[in-house]
Amino acid sequence: MRIGLILFVLLAAAGFSPSTFAAGKNRHVVVMVWDGMRPDFVTEENTPTLYRLAQEGVTFQNHHPVYISSTEVNGTAISTGAYPAHDGILANKEYRPEIDPLKFIHTEDMAAARAGDATSHGHYVRLPTLAEIIRRAGGKAVVAGAKPVALLADRADRTDASAGINLFAGQTLPSTILETLKNKFGEFPILTGTNNPTRNDWTTQALIDTLWKDGVPEFSFLWMNEPDLSQHMTGPGSERSLAAIRNADDNLDRVLKALAAKGVRDTTDVLVVSDHGFSTVSSSVDLVDSLLQAGIHATRQFKATPASGEVLVISNAGSVLIYVIGHDPKMTQQVVDFLQGWSHTGVIFTRQQMPGTFSLNQIHVDAATAPDVLVSMRWTADKNDVGVPGMLTSDGSDYGPGQGMHVSLSHFDMHNTLIAAGPDFRSGVFDALPTGNVDVAPTVLWILGIQPPEKMDGRVLTEALTVKGPKINIFEPGHIETEREQKKSVWHQYLNFTEVNGVVYYDEGNGYQTPK
Ligand SMILES: [Zn+2]
Repeated sequence: MRIGLILFVLLAAAGFSPSTFAAGKNRHVVVMVWDGMRPDFVTEENTPTLYRLAQEGVTFQNHHPVYISSTEVNGTAISTGAYPAHDGILANKEYRPEIDPLKFIHTEDMAAARAGDATSHGHYVRLPTLAEIIRRAGGKAVVAGAKPVALLADRADRTDASAGINLFAGQTLPSTILETLKNKFGEFPILTGTNNPTRNDWTTQALIDTLWKDGVPEFSFLWMNEPDLSQHMTGPGSERSLAAIRNADDNLDRVLKALAAKGVRDTTDVLVVSDHGFSTVSSSVDLVDSLLQAGIHATRQFKATPASGEVLVISNAGSVLIYVIGHDPKMTQQVVDFLQGWSHTGVIFTRQQMPGTFSLNQIHVDAATAPDVLVSMRWTADKNDVGVPGMLTSDGSDYGPGQGMHVSLSHFDMHNTLIAAGPDFRSGVFDALPTGNVDVAPTVLWILGIQPPEKMDGRVLTEALTVKGPKINIFEPGHIETEREQKKSVWHQYLNFTEVNGVVYYDEGNGYQTPK
């Protein structure tokens, strides 16, 4: 018996699990991300191809991004199957003093990724991505993105295509591929909103004609920059936003036709997912200005290396990261006191739980690099001028009232799209169980028969599969709330979530003051 146990332990340690990974024979998986695609815009009229794909496969009716509901964070969660606390990408803009001691970095920026890897022994993204895991297991993986976020899915520097290709926002790894693409498809299109071809057209065509030239690999990751951009510019539901959705749908059609032409449509699972939902900006505010008026010396950029107690505010629009240098507890309390009385605050998270806040670990953001205070901005279910629900107050953003934004804990930012079809997915099914972006990677690896190097935070979406998967345990809705008395008012905040097989999905959170 002891020998049997040891054998089991050894086999488990070697990643060998003969009975559990049944799929994985001659399979291809395509994960296509439509940036910012709200699930309520998937209709026969808006998205004829995606609508048809949903009829053939599974519509996930209760799908979630990880918080914060931004692109870089969710792109990484999709790739790693992990919450931000574990994969290390917490926001689009973060303070990483070892890279820049004075101001924020863009986490998707090549220079930031290179500097981050240099200071962390190659662990800027702290966990391996789908493309990396699949290649290590002997499979082929390609990445093509119309946005820079695609870099984070497969960022290793390389000198030739035998180590895989990543095409991101008109750049390539290895860089030698770029000339070939330019000669074939012209320059990567500039962003005008009306250009033809669009960045999505260019990127999809490059994937199909060049990256798939010698056959469709085990794994392809394709990222559309729309409808995110148009929804930011003109609000969700605008004519331009609907046209951008149609353009993403046209590119899905291209992908499906290319798979058919290459004779692999029947052996390919296609997952269409969005990184986050979307809201309309109700008002644009300036948190730094308000902090200064309250006597808190805050800034969006230091002029010199900061001293303990100085406050750096890094806006991600629908959420704001506040760093108190040296984690000074008195200053942190002052910031929290202010936020609990501010009429634009939604939900406050802090490193240590403080009265009237939740702690960062209650939303899986508690990395060493996390801010001292993280605040989700306040939102409502009101409708915009074309009748689309979900309005949001945005901090320090380029986008004003009537334009679009996300990144908050709004119900409308925290519900996004997932539709999957192919030989390993059930047909014509609506999945009502909670699911999330963290589940994409474990499900893709399950289908391909590859054991992840370590257990992922997400789960295998067993209920949607034709192949056997891990048993689903009952899911539980959850609600937490807290309050704190201020001088003149009482602060309240709440967070709603659900849980399946230990994976927590955040539905929404918000806050408000009542008179004392
Ligand atoms: Zn966006």
